[in-house]
Amino acid sequence: MFGPIIHASARPSQLSFLDAPLRADASPLRDVVRRSARNVPGVYRMLGARGDVLYVGKSRQVRTRLLSYFRLPWPEHRHARLLRETAHIEWEESPSEFAALLRETRLIRAHLPTYNRRGARPLDKWWVIVVPQGPVPRLRVQRASAAADRRSGKVDTIIGPFAHKAPLVSAVRVLNDALGLRDCADRVPMILRDAGDFFADDPRYARTPACHRFETRRCLGPCVAACSHDEYRTQLTRARAFLDGECDTPRLELAREMAVASAGLAYERAGWLRDRLAALETLDGQLMRVREALQRPSFAYRLPSLFGADRLYLIRDGRVAAEAQLDDTDAIDRLLMLERTPVSRATALTVDALEELTLLEHWFRTRAEEQQRTAPSAHELLRH
Ligand code: SF4
Repeated sequence: MFGPIIHASARPSQLSFLDAPLRADASPLRDVVRRSARNVPGVYRMLGARGDVLYVGKSRQVRTRLLSYFRLPWPEHRHARLLRETAHIEWEESPSEFAALLRETRLIRAHLPTYNRRGARPLDKWWVIVVPQGPVPRLRVQRASAAADRRSGKVDTIIGPFAHKAPLVSAVRVLNDALGLRDCADRVPMILRDAGDFFADDPRYARTPACHRFETRRCLGPCVAACSHDEYRTQLTRARAFLDGECDTPRLELAREMAVASAGLAYERAGWLRDRLAALETLDGQLMRVREALQRPSFAYRLPSLFGADRLYLIRDGRVAAEAQLDDTDAIDRLLMLERTPVSRATALTVDALEELTLLEHWFRTRAEEQQRTAPSAHELLRH
């Protein structure tokens, strides 16, 4: 349960919607905020003249935060420019700061507001590996925010999040090389060997790509029909198995090659292989931490609420699966019923879960005292 949504709109007579981006006088909006907003946790939305959501934010003190926008220097400050484009402001009070944060995350996910995408989002700090759908997909290292914004990418597999890009890129390159996966741009046309007789006379069958990875046997060559669909899929499945912690072949293979190089006194090659092995081992360690976070048993979190009775959250698979106010017996029953269903033990994130996992990770890491409000089961917290 959240507080009512409160709207602040400048009267049309005082605000030209057509000229909204150039509007100089924000005082009608400011006056409504001054009159109506309270200093409590909440979420606010800045809306354009056509009702489009320009920005979603949250604050522990909504009134103070909203009024601060009106003091920002224009045009230097991004949020001052945002205010010039804003025709309406809506805000709703939240039971707690945690509730506001969760609501903000879900609203950003739902609306992908322009100013949230342009600005710094918590997800911008993280990186992920994306395994897209498609006949010849490539492992892609992306900002977590970019992966989460791919609305059409709900079926993509997302692995992460990771804190640093450079080691991730190195490790994915090693994995690609070890398994012969492509790493070229999406625009490079692919032609698999089993594409059908229709292509049998295609001159591309005869050519070799201008790509050193094919020449050095680090790519199967799906762009020149050097492999079949099944051969490529098999290697991709191995990559997924490595990322899921179910197969160690790429690492063992590198270790074996390094031992052979050392035994043959090829020290330069052995050193090169050692660096690649180290990159994979670093990635393996990071993947283990991600899996631990995802597979952490479900737990419950009970928080005081601004609206009266405490609020209970059920967290599983790295996201808030259910929430209920303690005096709402039906909602509590539903939460307890969900708690009794088995946990899925996910190994990969969905796009939707990505933002909540990072939110929860950050919330509990930066507020150690909040752990005391958690318990392995909701039943335990309800007894207090
Ligand atoms: S060989 Fe072809 S498919 Fe492989 S990376 Fe090079 S261009 Fe891409």
